[in-house]
Amino acid sequence: DIKSNVKIYGKSTGHFPRIYEYDVDLVRDAICEILDVKKKKRKPGRIGIHIPSRPPVLCAGCPHRATYYAVKLASKKDTIFPTDIGCYTLGKFPPLEVADVLLCMGSNAGMACGFSISTNQKIISFMGDSTFFHAGIPALIDAAHHNHDCVITVLDNRTTAMTGHQPHPGTQYDGMGRKAKMIKVEDVARGVGIEHVEVVNPKNLKETTAAFKRALEYKGPSVIVSKSPCILLEVRDKIEKGVKIQKYEIDQEKCTKCKTCVSRFGCVAFYIDKKGNVRIDQEQCNGCGVCVQVCPFNAIRKVGD
Ligand code: SF4
Ligand code: SF4
Repeated sequence: DIKSNVKIYGKSTGHFPRIYEYDVDLVRDAICEILDVKKKKRKPGRIGIHIPSRPPVLCAGCPHRATYYAVKLASKKDTIFPTDIGCYTLGKFPPLEVADVLLCMGSNAGMACGFSISTNQKIISFMGDSTFFHAGIPALIDAAHHNHDCVITVLDNRTTAMTGHQPHPGTQYDGMGRKAKMIKVEDVARGVGIEHVEVVNPKNLKETTAAFKRALEYKGPSVIVSKSPCILLEVRDKIEKGVKIQKYEIDQEKCTKCKTCVSRFGCVAFYIDKKGNVRIDQEQCNGCGVCVQVCPFNAIRKVGD
């Protein structure tokens, strides 16, 4: 994306295969070949190097984080959240913790229907836009047919992000890059008989929280389409167009160190420095601007303001 002149080795140079899992031996052999060093047989045992733990996280500025934050604001503490397969499954981890059960692709909505009957609670489920088109629609028909009392959320980030940004029927291009008819999630939901359908922009926390509250009050099945492009697509698009990515920073004079931004919202661009000040890593910030709405003390501002 940054058009660097660095030589890149990979599948296209024949150093990595198109098939098989990239295990330690396979990667070591490829690196040895690239560096032109002799391949050594690996002896089993401990490496003795301290490697920091790096759990998988939603990217800085990911719209799913904003949706989940709004859901937490709108819902009760004991709400059950069935989820599905995609980047958004990472909502399982603290501080968001909005993934209680995952079975298989497309199962979120079916579980929401079943749990709403067996627990007599309002369930909120999550699936991505690609999952919706792949396997999510049949359970939606069931929800409408049986009038199941649950909220089915489609996290529509305009791509199949987890597997590398492939298109799907909700995008304007097909798998071969040709122009294709774009099918809207909300049209399909209404078409199969869901009567309460709302489309929200998760970057507007107030609007998104209000939409979830309305869906929770509604008797019967509802669909919330939380629509905002994957932040990586947005950043790439800006770089290609030469548009500046606005960074954000914390006004240390206003910051009370309440840590709401870290412990409840959890954007990975936030860190606490050695003096205990909360800061935003300028390299990681992707400029979504959602944290500004999270801070109760108006301490987050655009760099340069
Ligand atoms: S604007 Fe705030 S929430 Fe968005 S990426 Fe930057 S630090 Fe994270
Ligand atoms: S939420 Fe605001 S006041 Fe609280 S620690 Fe973060 S920046 Fe500081």
